[in-house]
Amino acid sequence: MAIAEWPTMNMSDTEITLAPEGAAAAPAQVRFSDFGLSPDIQRALTEQGYTHPTPIQAQAIPVVLQGRDVMGAAQTGTGKTASFSLPIIQLLLAHANSSMSPARHPVRALVLTPTRELAVQVADNVKAYCKHTPLRSTVVFGGMDMKPQTAALRSGIEIVIATPGRLLDHVEQKTVSLGQVQMLVMDEADRMLDMGFLPDLQRIINLLPKARQNLMFSATFSPEIKKLANSFLNNPVSIEVARSNATADKVTQVVYKVAEEHKRDAVAHILRQRELKQVIVFSNTKIGASRLARGLEQDGMKATAIHGDKSQQERMAALDAFKKGEIDVLVATDVAARGLDISDLPCVVNYDLPYNAEDYVHRIGRTGRAGASGDAISIYSDKDERLLADIEKLIKQTIRRGELQGFAPGSHGGDERHGERRARRGSEADRSRGERGGAERAPGGERERERSRGPAGPGPRREKVDPWFLKPYEPSRSAAPTASAPLPAAKPKAKLAALLGGLPKA
Ligand code: AMP
Repeated sequence: MAIAEWPTMNMSDTEITLAPEGAAAAPAQVRFSDFGLSPDIQRALTEQGYTHPTPIQAQAIPVVLQGRDVMGAAQTGTGKTASFSLPIIQLLLAHANSSMSPARHPVRALVLTPTRELAVQVADNVKAYCKHTPLRSTVVFGGMDMKPQTAALRSGIEIVIATPGRLLDHVEQKTVSLGQVQMLVMDEADRMLDMGFLPDLQRIINLLPKARQNLMFSATFSPEIKKLANSFLNNPVSIEVARSNATADKVTQVVYKVAEEHKRDAVAHILRQRELKQVIVFSNTKIGASRLARGLEQDGMKATAIHGDKSQQERMAALDAFKKGEIDVLVATDVAARGLDISDLPCVVNYDLPYNAEDYVHRIGRTGRAGASGDAISIYSDKDERLLADIEKLIKQTIRRGELQGFAPGSHGGDERHGERRARRGSEADRSRGERGGAERAPGGERERERSRGPAGPGPRREKVDPWFLKPYEPSRSAAPTASAPLPAAKPKAKLAALLGGLPKA
């Protein structure tokens, strides 16, 4: 197993280290029944359709059950949620009771997530896993009325999943007490730091009992993350699984080079030629996403854009339509798409190569999740050579250069795109910050609230209602890839399950 004592693990924020072969092979031998989980949990797992633990689960569950702190290198899509929530539930079963008294149900486990949509996903999983136990769980996040959350917290809850800002709101209003927390999970710790949650995290940690078990998960390991880990983890066990940086095997990747002004035509051509349904097309900018969606619509496609400038109503309508299969193409910025559990998508398209190579990995992770295969198609032009090189360096792989068969650039697309470039040039500062850095913040709007509050402490907070992001993604029935639209000259499908299984290559 790829278990090492912290800090011996060799990870950096840019280097991608794969799990050893032994770890990758482990899940084939390990079964959930090997962990000694309660029959009530096992029943829930059977209902979820889980047969074998994923690598992170195989490694983390026994360690967490021993009461050890864990530093986990894994990102969404690896099964990490169950890797911490199953042993937490098992350990908390010792305290489970069916008393009606809230005092008998203090908060014993706290899971912190950077975004509300991740909080909702984690909470949904936890609820499913403890469905047959008397344990109670709830989720609290910003951007919506505090009253229902307050009522839930006051009724007594053992497992709370929360975004940091809203949790502190509840602390300030004395609607939650953290004095009996035995287990703390920091999920997507790197994103939390990116989003400026460090002061909130520190405040929360100060409210917890000193004697507790700590679990921290992060996809990347910058010096700041290591510092945070060192400051609050106690002799942790480090667990690393193959990240989706290593999942190229299950996602068929191809890049098509076209002239800058023909990118939109190329996307339209690909979507039409492959008759793609339920596709996400990524754009680096909000304005680019809007223009592309509008252009695709003009080309007769059912497309819409989602990004931070869209109103709540527009976002809700877009997601609903996508879920129902009324919209085939969702043009999204990285931030708008982040955190949504969009499994089963047959294909993602990069209209722009991302400025940050890691975003490429997140994007292609939208397809081919949970053992399914998928296609990741990218369009690039001369000026993007550098971005492509960065991506290939990160994934340690040369992406296949494809030929767009039957592509005859049309008359549309060019003008809009030039217009966009002019607009971009005008906002070079935004562009250089990138969406990760400031042009568009995380959907929860927690950062804005933190800024408005200032670093020093409590004060009135402006809530930004954003229910669109609260809805977990449910793929529509029409999400299956079209059999009639194979990749032109596609290479043989590579082996499945690198993401969940990190299986050795054949
Ligand atoms: P996560 O990385 O926790 O977001 O999980 C990614 C997806 O994998 C979720 O849809 C989970 O329901 C699913 N999943 C987690 N563990 C397993 C498992 N052992 N077998 C099959 N699917 C799983």
